[in-house]
Amino acid sequence: MLPCTQKLSQLSWKPKGVILSGGPYSVYDADAPHVDPAVFELDVPVLGVCYGLQEIAWNHGKNVSAGERKEYGHAVLNVTRHTDAAPHVDVLFSGLDASLEVWMSHGDKLASLPPNFVTIATTANAPFAGIAHKDRKLYGIQFHPEVTHTAKGKAIIENFAVKLCQCRQNWTMERFVDTEIERIRAVVGPTGQVIGAVSGGVDSTVAAKLMKEAIGDRFHAILVDNGVMRLNECEIVHETLTKGLNINLTVVDASEEFLGKLKGVTDPEVKRKIIGNTFIEVFQREAERVVKESGGAVDFLLQGTLYPDVIESISFKGPSATIKTHHNVGGLLENMKLKLIEPLRELFKDEVRVLGTNLGIPEDLVWRHPFPGPGIAIRVIGEVTPEQVAIARKADHIFIEEIKAAGLYREISQAYAALLPVKAVGVMGDKRVHDQVIALRAVQTTDYMTADWYDFDGKFMRKVAGRIVNEVDGVCRVLYDVTQKPPGTIEFQ
Ligand code: GLN
Repeated sequence: MLPCTQKLSQLSWKPKGVILSGGPYSVYDADAPHVDPAVFELDVPVLGVCYGLQEIAWNHGKNVSAGERKEYGHAVLNVTRHTDAAPHVDVLFSGLDASLEVWMSHGDKLASLPPNFVTIATTANAPFAGIAHKDRKLYGIQFHPEVTHTAKGKAIIENFAVKLCQCRQNWTMERFVDTEIERIRAVVGPTGQVIGAVSGGVDSTVAAKLMKEAIGDRFHAILVDNGVMRLNECEIVHETLTKGLNINLTVVDASEEFLGKLKGVTDPEVKRKIIGNTFIEVFQREAERVVKESGGAVDFLLQGTLYPDVIESISFKGPSATIKTHHNVGGLLENMKLKLIEPLRELFKDEVRVLGTNLGIPEDLVWRHPFPGPGIAIRVIGEVTPEQVAIARKADHIFIEEIKAAGLYREISQAYAALLPVKAVGVMGDKRVHDQVIALRAVQTTDYMTADWYDFDGKFMRKVAGRIVNEVDGVCRVLYDVTQKPPGTIEFQ
């Protein structure tokens, strides 16, 4: 993965093919990033996705403009075959149905077909949803094959990588584990020590278990209770990681410190920064203690970074289009001279789950819904007080409990309750009340880059809403969020 401004003359190897990804700019913007035109002279297959398609068109006649209608979400793609054209033209959709479910996320469109291209797919709103060059292996698609909701997206990418670029498919999870453990051992050395934060989430647990397998108790895990975790979370995580997985773990209760600093803060980015910075302070204190007690030096910091985080941080101007600031412990690196170790940085969430299962991590944990670093602090909209956290926590616990009882937990990728900073009128026990509003969100996705809301039945919703208003003091109304991602992110803040 390289920034789009990479100069090909500075590359020491020749790729077997090039995929030009999507991006937030419009190709006709004065400051839009453009790919090195030498890409088109490399004589290897090129596939442009969304912005990438628009970039190909921009390079071949500049005919791209803002569409009258923006298009986010589901679309039906109709494949157009060209049996009379050169054989390469039809390869991208070969073996697939003539009509495919795809996911769109764009506002611009091609105003016409670039010279020497043919249309290989259309949708109701995009007459050039797929194009191919008549003579060269140059393709563009307006939809996103890399996201879950494009049902045959993997097959399209496979057609490109394997059939057109002739790449070999020799990556397996078993080989990944073996080489990764060896790599960790080689990097850390025979006596080196590593510290890392765990949260109870699947990523940090899998990363910690991998470290345990590689270097045993020379890996020190630290769980910081920041006061905005889920109900009973610290106890559960402690139990599973120590008794279940044998990981060398220390739990630190810093909830008062965190909640003290969050007092009066309502801006979500400020909340994220406070939690991130306080986390670094607490973690640093603990890490120094671990170093002292272990007697040896600690040189490495473990991070459960996944590939989507890597993607989000690669941007041609630095991480300017980063969607949200990621909660991480980057600040520690300079102070403590720690080197970063990120064994999961090439994996997606679904792959981390397979890896976790292979490493013997319990099902419950492997399939745990993701939970953001700033936790309930970004699910309590407005000021985060201990009282508000308690309300959000209880409502969330009821929602998740009911989802589990209905056997829907695995089907849903992420679900939670958010507490809105508004008051609504209600009648409770013949008395007029003026209480708060809970918003429920539940989505389905595998890559977390796009998501669709989960379609619960009315009976389930009625039960959850009933329990929340009855059991959670201070709440008199429950809403359900029916926004897709994009445009709505999975979290509220
Ligand atoms: N910004 C461009 C558009 O809106 C490309 C979007 C994308 O690549 N997802 O059309």
